[in-house]
Amino acid sequence: MSSAVFDEQANRWDIKLESGQRAQAQFLIAAVGLLSARYTPAFEGVDSFTGESFHTSRWPKEKVDFTGKRVAVIGTGATAVQLIPEIAPEVGHLTVFQRTPNYCAPCRNSEVTPEEQREWKASYDTIHKRIRETTVGMMHEFDPRKTFDVPKEERLAFYEDLWSKPGFTKWLSNFHDIMTDLDANEDFSEFVRNKIRARIKDPVVAEQLAPKDHPFGSKRIPLETNYYEAYNRDNVLLVDVREAPIESITPNGVKTTEQEYEFDIIIYATGFDAVTGALSQIDVRGEGGQTIKEKWANGPRNYLGLQIAGFPNLFTATNAAFCNYTVCAESIVEWITDCIRHIREKDLQRIAPKPQAEDEWIAYVNKVAEGLIITKAKSAWFMGTNIPGKPPAVLLNPLPAPAYRAKCAEAAAKGYEDFVLQ
Ligand SMILES: Cc1cc2nc3c(=O)[nH]c(=O)nc-3n(C[C@H](O)[C@H](O)[C@H](O)COP(=O)(O)OP(=O)(O)OC[C@H]3O[C@@H](n4cnc5c(N)ncnc54)[C@H](O)[C@@H]3O)c2cc1C
Repeated sequence: MSSAVFDEQANRWDIKLESGQRAQAQFLIAAVGLLSARYTPAFEGVDSFTGESFHTSRWPKEKVDFTGKRVAVIGTGATAVQLIPEIAPEVGHLTVFQRTPNYCAPCRNSEVTPEEQREWKASYDTIHKRIRETTVGMMHEFDPRKTFDVPKEERLAFYEDLWSKPGFTKWLSNFHDIMTDLDANEDFSEFVRNKIRARIKDPVVAEQLAPKDHPFGSKRIPLETNYYEAYNRDNVLLVDVREAPIESITPNGVKTTEQEYEFDIIIYATGFDAVTGALSQIDVRGEGGQTIKEKWANGPRNYLGLQIAGFPNLFTATNAAFCNYTVCAESIVEWITDCIRHIREKDLQRIAPKPQAEDEWIAYVNKVAEGLIITKAKSAWFMGTNIPGKPPAVLLNPLPAPAYRAKCAEAAAKGYEDFVLQ
């Protein structure tokens, strides 16, 4: 979709696709994804490279032959962390350009036995009920104890146990105050740094890979399998672009302030213009012709992450809670469905939040986020600070998922009084 213009007379969205096709709809649901708008830094000369290059989210459909090739990976976020250990044994030489080291945690994927599969399937109802109750919509739940209320030896044993478990356990089943108390967080951050250091043979590289400029969990934790071991290989080089920033992409490769590196393939693992990026890229015009870009010039504004004042009958489904998205998406879809049903039953034409409700919601979200470490990383998509020039803002509403759901339910139960209904 390239544009959507609200026709204030007809109360319809006039929609245009890239193909030139047009459509009209009373309601427009923007389900464009929170991590779907790829971000490639505007390096000078980016189009001049004569080899093959692509972004991790636009991986070529044909199998890429890395055999013997000189390959660059720019970025060390979630996608880089997954691909580096996979391609390192195949390439001739791999150079990883790192700006921010991440606290990567072992994924610990394993084969699911038929018996485990049967058990999981028999528990679907229990699991489904549980994930609607937890803070982040997963089977994990934060531990109610405070970090420093637990004696050191017991704390370390707890960390080791978390570390041995799969998935996000070590983040989202940890002591709850690692997300609010910087000292508590530092206790676990150092535990993770030591886990990283222990896996890297070269102490200089180990320090480069051990994050020290942001708290654990203030950026999304990448889950990995054999990521750190890749740096022990003779054919893998880590370049710290904080020390020597990338100046340009040249026809032959990548030029930093220190030297030029030659490559056959450059992979941009440079992330996403998260949450608001995909919608901002569409020419959306609401009441009075205001564009979404104008509306969001100083940061995104919305009510409940679901609707935007001045953009009637537009629903957004991307900036919900800090949550397992597929779970939270369900409640968003349910809310939007009920809302549209209400409009139809009452024979109304349009709905948009009152500007005051929007102002109060944004103030509330910022207040809740104030004490949380998710606001503390210098460069993180949670806050939009990975994109140069993007106004820093709390992009994922920080309420626990059940509290967020209750807020949305309350707004509907009050007869949508925070909305202008026409
Ligand atoms: C590396 C990575 C790791 C992730 N890890 C997690 C995780 O651990 N937990 C989690 O909950 N989520 C995670 N996500 C987020 C994940 O994107 C969402 O959970 C999930 O994909 C959201 O589903 P969706 O349908 O809302 O959006 P998407 O799956 O992103 O789908 C959006 C769709 O909209 C389309 N679209 C965008 N713009 C336009 C346009 N202008 N016109 C037409 N179509 C358009 C896109 O092409 C795409 O098909 C991760 C994402 C990435 C990239």
